[in-house]
Amino acid sequence: MVAAVKSLRTPSEVVDAKIAGRDRLAALEAVAARYAVAITPAIAGLIDPSDPHDPIARQFVPDARELEQQPEERGDPIGDDAFSPVEGVVHRYPDRVLLKLVNACAVYCRFCFRREMIGPGRGGLSPAALAVALDYIGAHPGIWEVILSGGDPLILSARRLGDVVARLAAIDHVKVIRVHTRVPAVAPEKISAALVRALRARDKATFVILHVNHPRELTKAARAACARLIDAGIPMLSQSVLLRGVNDDVATLGALMRTLVECRIKPYYLHHADLAPGTAHWRTTIAEGHALLRALRGRYSGLCQPSYVLDIPGGHGKSPIGPNYLSDDGTTVEDFNGRRHIYPPRR
Ligand code: SF4
Repeated sequence: MVAAVKSLRTPSEVVDAKIAGRDRLAALEAVAARYAVAITPAIAGLIDPSDPHDPIARQFVPDARELEQQPEERGDPIGDDAFSPVEGVVHRYPDRVLLKLVNACAVYCRFCFRREMIGPGRGGLSPAALAVALDYIGAHPGIWEVILSGGDPLILSARRLGDVVARLAAIDHVKVIRVHTRVPAVAPEKISAALVRALRARDKATFVILHVNHPRELTKAARAACARLIDAGIPMLSQSVLLRGVNDDVATLGALMRTLVECRIKPYYLHHADLAPGTAHWRTTIAEGHALLRALRGRYSGLCQPSYVLDIPGGHGKSPIGPNYLSDDGTTVEDFNGRRHIYPPRR
């Protein structure tokens, strides 16, 4: 395991920390010239450099295959741009918007679906742009929920987050503030008492959705960070990406879901990997995803079952993609052992 005291942000730092061999430096530099790199001390400490297939390293250490773009891949795979009425806002569904506060993250995932838009120095919403975004939300009474996203909004200071949460909470029709983040797992020390306080708003519900892909990411420190949020009355759910070589086997996926539930985090989404550029080596087939979900349902508690979803390319939104246990004609249903049973039609 590697002891780092600050985030590793260049290929040289990754090589010097012995997370990747020096023979890979040129390949890492070629990738880093296009896509951002950051590995926090918490994540560096989890990587086993002696394992060439380490599932943590695989998520964060650049790979030469990231520069191989497939024809079906696209820079904006889930179609954010087409649904962005003002800077920083994505309004795709009637009752909720994304508010993208910042275009940087604590770590840069090699499979990131927004990899063309994020990185250090990409900035975030200026005060003027934030005011316009909040005006837009205030002018649309159908917006019930605001999802703070980015980038990772929890890299912001407690003061800035508190300001945004308070201004959202002042909008009467906004009832729910949801935060999408990797920070409690990849930089748990950032979940301070001040930050937890900043996320709470009187008479509004705040949810935190943790992005986590492998059970080893839920270290003792990460669990404590999540407990600080949950104990303060902030419910947590999870989202994970189905990733080849990281969690595409039932034992790992089941262990991830169980660990989340043990931390009082309800598994919410398992995303089929998006068509982001240079990420083909990450993607499973949907049929492989179905086999995993069926195995999960057969062997693990209902609390451990995420919804398997796909963001339809082009911005058409997220859809659950199965597996389906009911026959097309509605006459038979499959049990958790794969056996089919007749369901009698209504008389
Ligand atoms: S934390 Fe999210 S936005 Fe940031 S690199 Fe990872 S997947 Fe992309």
